[in-house]
Amino acid sequence: MSNPPRLSALVTGGSRGIGAAVAKRLAKDGYSVILTYVTKPDEAQAVASHILAEGGEALAVRLDVSDRGAVSAFFKEHIEGKVELEVLVNNAGITKDGLLVRMKDEDWDRVIAVNLPGAFTCLREAGKLMMKRRRGRIVNIVSVVGQSGNAGQANYVAAKAGLIGLTKTAALELAPRGITVNAVAPGFIESDMTAVLPDAVKQAFQEQIPLKRMGTPEDVASAVAYLASPEAAYVTGQVLAVNGGLYR
Ligand code: NAP
Repeated sequence: MSNPPRLSALVTGGSRGIGAAVAKRLAKDGYSVILTYVTKPDEAQAVASHILAEGGEALAVRLDVSDRGAVSAFFKEHIEGKVELEVLVNNAGITKDGLLVRMKDEDWDRVIAVNLPGAFTCLREAGKLMMKRRRGRIVNIVSVVGQSGNAGQANYVAAKAGLIGLTKTAALELAPRGITVNAVAPGFIESDMTAVLPDAVKQAFQEQIPLKRMGTPEDVASAVAYLASPEAAYVTGQVLAVNGGLYR
């Protein structure tokens, strides 16, 4: 007898950093993974190839989550009627830091567009399909600074705080259909996003972190895997911090 088809997990921004670790972890946990990228096709394909080499299923697809038309076309082409979408991880995110009095409109607009409407549009599409199936897991990657604020990141903090609110509201609206919606709030994690910071800034952060180290993408992936697992069936509307004890 043939095995039943694997349930699918969609990870936005799965080409690098946290998203790549989440894609690999969910594949290891048995999901067929669709991971998206925008600028780094080779890195996305390398993540997919790694998963395939480990015996998993993976597909890398280009998707700019800030493009509403592209999101809806992507769901029609790759998800609706094609796979059983069990998990959505809204991981795609960018920063464009600067003090707010000097922040350019384009830097405000772009960071909001990718981090908040990008997640909303994917959540809305996935939510419709999951409601029909009466099951599903949605995990939004937010940030510790979305709860604390952070000088120099007004755009990013506003987007992540908005995504926390969206998480709580989506959890309430989708709960009657058996769908959970949670957020993971990483602290200071090793990835391209933090690699650009000066060494002195990284050193200062590390000294403040009670666990005395930066987090790894795999630390965040473990939290996402938990929220996607049967063990988290009764957990919804939560923000799970993965920050080494640094709440800022
Ligand atoms: P990263 O290494 O910079 O990777 C960002 C990912 O997002 C890449 O896969 C990138 O695709 C994708 N992406 C960028 N713009 C996109 C767009 N318009 N549409 C779709 N995908 C897009 O970042 P990371 O550190 O892994 O961060 C992942 C998530 O964790 C983000 O939401 C970030 O805000 C959050 N986070 C990170 C930290 C940290 O310390 N690193 C802390 C808190 C929260 P390409 O590779 O194709 O460019």
